[in-house]
Formats: sequence, C-alpha cells, structure tokens
Amino acid sequence: MSSATISTPVSLAAPGRQHWKTVLADSFRDPYELLKYCGIDVSRVQLVSEHEFAFRVTRYFASLIEKGNAQDPLLLQVLPGTQELQRVEGYLQDAVGDIQFMRVPGLVHKYAGRVLLTLTGACAIHCRYCFRRHFPYGEARVGFDQGGQVMKYLAEHDDVNEVILSGGDPLMVSDGKLADLVASLNRIPHIKTLRIHSRLLSVLPERVTRDLVEVLQGFDGQVVMVTHINHPNEISERNQAAFQLLSKTGYRLFNQSVLLKRVNDSASTLVELSNRLFESHITPYYLHRLDKVQGAAHFDLPGRECARIYAQLRSRLPGYLLPAMVQDIPGQPAKTPAIGD
Ligand SMILES: *Cc1c(COP(=O)(O)O)cnc(C)c1O
Ligand code: SF4
Repeated sequence: MSSATISTPVSLAAPGRQHWKTVLADSFRDPYELLKYCGIDVSRVQLVSEHEFAFRVTRYFASLIEKGNAQDPLLLQVLPGTQELQRVEGYLQDAVGDIQFMRVPGLVHKYAGRVLLTLTGACAIHCRYCFRRHFPYGEARVGFDQGGQVMKYLAEHDDVNEVILSGGDPLMVSDGKLADLVASLNRIPHIKTLRIHSRLLSVLPERVTRDLVEVLQGFDGQVVMVTHINHPNEISERNQAAFQLLSKTGYRLFNQSVLLKRVNDSASTLVELSNRLFESHITPYYLHRLDKVQGAAHFDLPGRECARIYAQLRSRLPGYLLPAMVQDIPGQPAKTPAIGD
C-alpha cells in the first residue's frame, strides 16, 4: 500500500512532536506524584514504598484517569497498594510455569508452531497484576549479541512458523534493534508470521511512528499486533489514531484483556470495551483469567463470578466481538478455556 493512501492521524501529525523516548522519560515514577496529578488525597490511599516491582506510568495513561476518583479503573491497575504484600496460598512467583520452557536465553517454546521471544524486561507502565513481575529478565532476554543462539534454534525448528515478540514490552526496544531482528527472521523461510504483543501501542501512542511501520514493513511475512487494553477508558482519539495507522498499513490487530476485580468485572464494562475496540479496528481476542501470581491476589475473582460475567457477555455481544475467556494452566498445550472454577 502506498503511503499516500494512509490518512495522517492527528497525533502523528502534531508539529514539534517529541521522540517517544523523550515522552517516555517524562513518565510518572512516584505514585504520590501521580495521585497529586489526579487530585486524589494521598491520606486516603495506602501504598507500599520500597518495592521489588517499581512504579511506572506514562503521562498519556495518567491523563485518562478520572480526576479525584481514587477508585478509577485505570488508576487501580497501576497503584501499588499494601495488598501486594499479602502472601496468599496458591499465588506463586512463576505462575505460568514458563521458565522450564526457555530453550535458549530469551526464547520460550511452550506451544506448537509458535515461540515467544522476550526482548527486554522493560515496560512503559507497570501493571500491578502482571505475571511477569517476578520473571528473571537478567538471564532471560534475547541478548542481541548472543542472538545467534535464538536464530539457530529457530532455523533448526522448521515446525515453528510464528515468532511472538513479548517482554516486558517488545516496543521498548529501539527501531534499529527491531530492524536487525526482522532482517534475521527474514533469513528463516519457515517463519511466516511476526506477532507483537505490546501495551505501548495503547499507553504510549507516540511509539507508533512511520519509522516503526517502515521497520515492520521490512518483514517478509504477515505482521500481527496484539494490544493489551482492559477498560474502555483506555481508548481515546490519540491511540485510535495509532491503531488506524497500523490497520491501514495492513496489520491485523487483536486485543487481550485480563479480567480484574474492581477494574473491569462487569458485563457492561466489557461490552463497551468490545465496542470501543471494534471502532478502533481491533478484534477482541482473549479475556484472561488472572494468573495466580504472588502479590496480585486482590485482583482475582472467584470462578463462578467469572462464569456469570462471561455468560452475560455472550448474550450481549455478536460472536465476533466476544473474546475467548482463557487461563494459562501450567502443563497444558495451549491457553485453556476457563469458565467456572
Ligand atoms: C500465550 C502464549 C503464546 C501464544 O498463545 P496463542 O494462543 O497463540 O495466543 C505462546 N507462547 C507462550 C509461552 C504463551 O504463554
Ligand atoms: S508485561 Fe505487560 S502486563 Fe506486565 S507490566 Fe509490562 S505492560 Fe504491564
């Protein structure tokens, strides 16, 4: 497709637009500053201070939080509350059992036909429910120097036809490094699909540039992008412009959400989310049950509650806007349909 047919989205045309790394560097790193910005009385909120999983929120995500609302569904996803310190039985450090499937550093081959590459441990926003909060990224990311090991593994496994970039957030990596990776993947003919799972697409819309698109256009196969949006308030004209650019370029866009207590645990919120995604050229893909990770138990919902919400969703949405509710159960050959306990 020629670039002339791509209408220039608003956020991408803004004059004097800053480089995404500059915008990222201006993120909130202190929860009290975020609360102040949101006009929330800090004495009403109990936070953990010294923490293994640092606080981080982009300005853009923060701008979508409703001012003065301590229960805002976006705020609850990022605020490090004291509940994180609770140790609840059954909530583990490696909740999804991925480490045993790491074949070479940075490459997880757990399901047939596709592998997951962890490019970086870094994210633009730290989601408090994240199962990767305890992941040992030091040893576990694709070091670009020893990337040869990853490419060797891929070249030797011709049953693998999809490479999924994950992290952390793979779009935290520079365009130059992504271009190197694309060039390496192009040398392996059985890799037909490049899938990018990224929360930056929605929380740092500045990341979606023509340069990025140009890098990805260099891939010989299909490009698929999976956004991570949990609540309809996370979508605005700003990131819709980014989604529009990607979809007009010809990339298939899907979304995954996590079902989270107090954030999106109602059918009407999830119906609205599916409709907003559809308007944004994104197809709902997965609705994940929470991974039972230590420090995130306060986001979990009982199985019967999930089943009740999902039954309502099914009765209110057309099939093509109904995400599959799944759970990552260690030892299973795929994400497992999760309805009931
Ligand atoms: C979720 C996941 C995938 C992708 O699964 P899909 O069902 O294809 O989306 C691949 N590898 C690992 C390790 C995963 O956790
Ligand atoms: S990996 Fe995804 S869910 Fe986890 S903290 Fe990073 S952006 Fe959030």
